This record gives sequence, structure tokens and C-alpha cells, in this order.
Amino acid sequence: CGIVAYTGARDAYPVILKGLKRLEYRGYDSSGIALGQKEGLHVYKKKGKVNDLEESLMGQPLRANSGIGHTRWATHGEPSDRNAHPHRSSNGKLAMVHNGIIENYASLKQELTKKGYSFESETDTEVLLRFIEDIFANQSDSLEEAVRIALRRVIGAYVIIILNEDDPNTLIAARKGSPLVIGIGRGEHFLASDASPIIEYTKEVVYINDYEMAIVKPDELILKNLGNDKVTPFITRLDMEL
Ligand code: GLU
Repeated sequence: CGIVAYTGARDAYPVILKGLKRLEYRGYDSSGIALGQKEGLHVYKKKGKVNDLEESLMGQPLRANSGIGHTRWATHGEPSDRNAHPHRSSNGKLAMVHNGIIENYASLKQELTKKGYSFESETDTEVLLRFIEDIFANQSDSLEEAVRIALRRVIGAYVIIILNEDDPNTLIAARKGSPLVIGIGRGEHFLASDASPIIEYTKEVVYINDYEMAIVKPDELILKNLGNDKVTPFITRLDMEL
């Protein structure tokens, strides 16, 4: 029920872990993190509290400058390690977190099963990721374009953030009906469901609107609508205190 992501020069894992703890008040049944590590993309996830995830990762070298994190409130598939987010594409190159519900996931799943895709979880999220993966592989030149094409066919509410092993410093995010805030730092960006994980790092934020996508690099933030028109980011100054 919460999302945190980071791209920049800091160590991403502690930033994301702390952010997930700040979002705990929203309620959740499992949590997980994907990191763009040197050797490739890694996903760590666990049923239970963020503390359980943290304990299971004690002593592991988790160096990465980008990553995505999630606390899940299960809607499709029981709370379990397998159904926890982030989910991975079948080629392992993409990891995605999602808050919300994909209402037409059953028909998309049928379509994808016919094409030969299989599924590791019972979630609607994994269906959307396979759908994006399929478009990326066959119909588009960029992940950004694949996400845009996919979302035009999606019915439901979502915030999604995708981490791509081949371009780990660029996060692709989109929203419709669930909140997403982006914190603007110096050479770094923070993404979250609300400002609470962001405020200790920066007071400058951009609230993403419905049907908008963000292409987020450490030193660049591009907003577009699903028609591929650029949208000018409107920067708001947070005046709330920690
Ligand atoms: N529908 C997704 C799931 O059940 C996301 C739930 C959420 O918003 O945490 O996994």
C-alpha cells in the first residue's frame, strides 16, 4: 500500500528501507525491494513487517544507487513471499512495484498465456508487467513507450514504478488514481506514495497527475501524458515539518 524509489548518488537501500518504514502507517502485509546492483538487478521480498525484510537482509552487501520498494496490501493473491512486490519480468530484466488494482487483468492474462507467458504469482501486478514486457519486446523501441502503450489498455487504478537492469538509473513511473510524489534533490530524485519518506531529503516536490508518466534520472525529470506530450513539472514547496 506504499511505494518508495530512489535514483542518485546515495546508497539506495537505506533510503528505501527508511521510506518504507515511514509508510507503514498505511497498513500492509508484506514488503520488498529491488536494487539495481552492479552485478544486475536483485529482488528481495518477504511476507510480514518491513523489519522482517530488513532482518532477512542483515549482513548482505546491498550496494546500489537506484531501487524501488513496496509495502503490499493484497488484493489479488494471498499475502506471501511469492505474491509480494517487486515482481520481475520473465526475462528477469525488469522489476516493478504497483499499488492499486488492474481491473482487466483476467483478460490480459488470458491473452498473455496464449502467447506462452507463465506466471509466478497470483497478482494482477505480474500480469501488467508481462504485458509491458511483451510490448517492449515486440512493438516498441523503448521501455517508456511500452509502458505508455500498455497503460492505454489498462482499466483500473495504479501507481507503478519500473526498474530496468539495462538502464538502472532511469526509473519509469506512472499513475492513475493512486498518489505519487517526486522529490527533487541535487543530482537525485525520490519517489513515494506521499511526502513523508521524502521530506528529510528535500522540500521541493512534484505531484504527478492521473494519466501522467515520469521518466526519472538522477539529474533529469521528464513528465509526459499517455499521449506522449511533455508536461511541465509543477514544483511545490513542502512546508510541513518532520
Ligand atoms: N493489486 C496488487 C496486489 O494485490 C497491489 C496491491 C497494493 O496496492 O499493495 O498485489
